[in-house]
Amino acid sequence: CGIVGGVSRQDVVPVLLQGLRRLEYRGYDSCGLAVHMASLNPASGAGLHRTRSTARVAELQAQVQAENLHEATGIAHTRWATHGEPSMANAHPHFSFGPGQREAFPPESVARVALVHNGIIENYEELRRALEARDYRFFSDTDSEVVAHLIDSCYNGDLFEALQAAIAQLRGAYALAVIHRDEPHRLVGARAGSPLVLGVAAEQGGHFVASDAMALAGVTDQIVYLEEGDLVDLQASRYWICDAGGRALTPEQRPVQTVQ
Ligand code: GLU
Repeated sequence: CGIVGGVSRQDVVPVLLQGLRRLEYRGYDSCGLAVHMASLNPASGAGLHRTRSTARVAELQAQVQAENLHEATGIAHTRWATHGEPSMANAHPHFSFGPGQREAFPPESVARVALVHNGIIENYEELRRALEARDYRFFSDTDSEVVAHLIDSCYNGDLFEALQAAIAQLRGAYALAVIHRDEPHRLVGARAGSPLVLGVAAEQGGHFVASDAMALAGVTDQIVYLEEGDLVDLQASRYWICDAGGRALTPEQRPVQTVQ
C-alpha cells in the first residue's frame, strides 16, 4: 500500500518510520522495514536486517528503537494484502536468500536482496514455478516475493541491471524499492501502474523514494515525479533515472519540482 526508502550519509531509519506514519491514513494490515547494516553481527559482518509487525507502525517503531537501529540505507512498507493473508511471513520487506536454501528460518546474514512492492504481479504463479524449478524456496504466499527471487536470479554484481532484467519478465502493477547485501550504498526502484516519487535531498545527505511525496514531508520538498515505466538508481550523492527501454532521462524530462 505504501513505500518509503532512502540512501543517505545520515541515519535513514527516522525518515523511514516517519514516512510510514504519514502513509498510515491509507490503511494497512502490516508493516516493516529493512536496512543495510554495517555490522550485522561479529561473525557475519555487514548485511541486511529486517523488522516487521502485524500491528501498527507505532509498534514497529518501538521494535526498531529497542534494536537501536541507525543505518544509512533502507526500505519500508505498509501492506494492504492482495495475495496471501495478513501475517508476519507475508509482510514486506521480502528477502531473497538465493537458491538452494534448505532452512525454514534462514539467518538474516545470508539474505541477499530485500524488496518492498506495491501493486499486483499478474504472472506471479508462472514465475514462482519457474523459480522453484531453479531451487528458490518461498517463505510467503505473496505475489511480491517472486520479484525478490527474480532479481536475485538476474544479479550479476549490479543491482540496477538485475532490476532491469527482472522487470522485463513482470506483468502487472508495481512500485518497487530494492536493496542488496553487496551494495550497501545503493537503492533501486521502478514504477508501472503504482505511483513512486524520488526525493532529492543531496544537501541533507541523500536521496529517497516514496509512493507519495507526502511521506517525505519534512525530509525534502524537492520531488521528481516518476512516470510509467521509469527506473531509478540512487546513491547518497547522485541519482539516475531511465525509461523502460533503458534510455537515460535528463533533468528536463524529469524535472525536480518543489512541493508545498
Ligand atoms: N500484492 C502485494 C501483497 O499482497 C502488495 C500489496 C500492497 O500494495 O500493499 O503483498
